Amino acid sequence: MKTTKKFQLSESEIPQRWYNIVADMPNRPKPLLNPQTREPLQPHEMEGLFAKDLVEQEFSAERWIDIPEEVINLYKIYRPTPLVRATALEKALDTPAKIFFKNESVSPVGSHKLNTALAQAYYNNKQGIKKLTTETGAGQWGSAMSIACQYFGIDLVVFMVKRSFEQKPYRKIVINSYGGQVHPSPTNLTEYGRKVLAQDPDCGGSLGMAISEAVEMAVTTPNTRYTLGSVLNHVLLHQTIIGLEAEKQMAMAGEYPDKVIACFGGGSNFSGISFPFLRHRLTDGTPTEFIAAEPAACPKLTHGKLEYDFGDTAGMTPLIPMYTLGHDFQPEQIHAAGLRYHGGGQLVSQLKADGYINSCAIEQEETFKAGLLFAKTEGIIPAPESTHAIAATIREALKAKENGKSEVILFNLSGHGLLDMGAYENYL
Ligand SMILES: *Cc1c(COP(=O)(O)O)cnc(C)c1O
Repeated sequence: MKTTKKFQLSESEIPQRWYNIVADMPNRPKPLLNPQTREPLQPHEMEGLFAKDLVEQEFSAERWIDIPEEVINLYKIYRPTPLVRATALEKALDTPAKIFFKNESVSPVGSHKLNTALAQAYYNNKQGIKKLTTETGAGQWGSAMSIACQYFGIDLVVFMVKRSFEQKPYRKIVINSYGGQVHPSPTNLTEYGRKVLAQDPDCGGSLGMAISEAVEMAVTTPNTRYTLGSVLNHVLLHQTIIGLEAEKQMAMAGEYPDKVIACFGGGSNFSGISFPFLRHRLTDGTPTEFIAAEPAACPKLTHGKLEYDFGDTAGMTPLIPMYTLGHDFQPEQIHAAGLRYHGGGQLVSQLKADGYINSCAIEQEETFKAGLLFAKTEGIIPAPESTHAIAATIREALKAKENGKSEVILFNLSGHGLLDMGAYENYL
């Protein structure tokens, strides 16, 4: 029997609107709080940090939000991304499950991060912002923001977790090639960085610390704003382009997923692929299961507590109601640096509390084994983050085999691992 391998949309079929799940949630998340007063945060209080239009999206309950034409035109550089049936992986697993993956690794920076970077640069430029700051862990977000800023003529300063900066020297070159500046964090450039270095000159840094530095520089520099690559509602909103395309492509394949799986750092690629399908479960009870695959070293959804916590280490961000391991939690130095974040964000946390989202925590050993099987079968070397989604998919496909059940699994391949050869070298 011949099976179709790739399901591809044309450029004119790129979705024209992002999906905002807040409109369909049975329980809206609790509000963000001002960290000083502990009162619900008002939109204007965020406008010193983020572009106005992004703040509006952060607080929006509109179901559909138009994607600006300039952003769609930039999406066309790499979108629509392919939906692929992982026939070779299915065969290797000898499973009755049908496995599909959405391939976000085809973006020029190698991950899904560009979907929101382009939108964030666009709205900042529209407002006349000349400089942006951000943090990056593995370097994927810094790379995406640097090309996005280049397109709109905005200067970018990236604070990169020092340990990753040392382990992944080529990320710096990627960021510089696109015109961005990158510094190993903690730095001497901010008061917070200087304070950390005074206490521990060899500090390897963390995402939470890098966020504190980027936020401090944004609020103390004129005509400058901060950008974040995950966690916040507006970021998750932009990533729904992934699931909206996948929905059309699954229909082309004549299938609908029983299970949707993605790796989970701050929730952006997970929400991006899940929310458009979760919409049908919320509105008409379609019984799809949603699984967030976390590293065992940083399992905020699986083992964290649902409470108000800061988004950064220094406690400068608003308080977010979310599953968290604590804002001063320092995870082990696993290779999936993009998953080493302490909190699960407002939307995913509420949906998990209400029983719509499941999670699992996977040891690094199992994820690399899964990543290599995927590389040997489907040919793509996955990012260490994405190997968590593959490992969870393999678990489900083997369960299906054990139960003799034919089911449809869709996972998101959030990125490729071609700049993560150091991690594979260590594993091999
Ligand atoms: C950043 C990143 C992640 C983790 O971030 P989320 O917001 O949880 O998606 C996962 N995969 C890749 C390839 C990344 O670059």
